[in-house]
Amino acid sequence: MGQGLDVKCPSCGYKFGALLGEGKTTGYYAKKIQEEMKVGKYGEEGKRFIAKARDDGILDCQKIVFECKTCKDLSSDAAMAINGEAFPRKCSRCETPLKPWFSFESDLYMGSAKCPKCGGTLEDDYDGIYACTCWD
Ligand SMILES: [Zn+2]
Ligand SMILES: [Zn+2]
Repeated sequence: MGQGLDVKCPSCGYKFGALLGEGKTTGYYAKKIQEEMKVGKYGEEGKRFIAKARDDGILDCQKIVFECKTCKDLSSDAAMAINGEAFPRKCSRCETPLKPWFSFESDLYMGSAKCPKCGGTLEDDYDGIYACTCWD
C-alpha cells in the first residue's frame, strides 16, 4: 500500500510531502514507467536501461525519497531497478545525481532524518494525529 507522508523542519520551516511505497497498482505503474522509458522519456540512458529488461518486464519500481545535495531539496519519485541494478536518477533542476534515501520513513520516526536546508531534525507534520493519505 502506498502512503503519503508530510514532514516539516521546525528550525527553518522547510516542508516536504512524499508519496511512498509500492501501491496496489505496482504492476501497472512499473509497466507504465517501462513504456515511458522505451519511448525516451528518461533519455537515452533510460532506453539502454530498459533494454536490459525482458519483455515480461522485471522492473522493480517503488516510490522513495530522493535528496539533491546541490538544491538541498527532497523529492519523492520512482526508484527503478532491474535485477538489482538501479537506474540513476538526476535532479530535474540541476542534473546532479540524486541520492536515494531508502530509509527515510524509519529515519523520520527514529528522529534521525535531517533537514536538507539547515540540518535540523525533520518531524512528522501531523500535530500528533496520525493520518494516511493513500495514493493508490
Ligand atoms: Zn530546516
Ligand atoms: Zn538539484
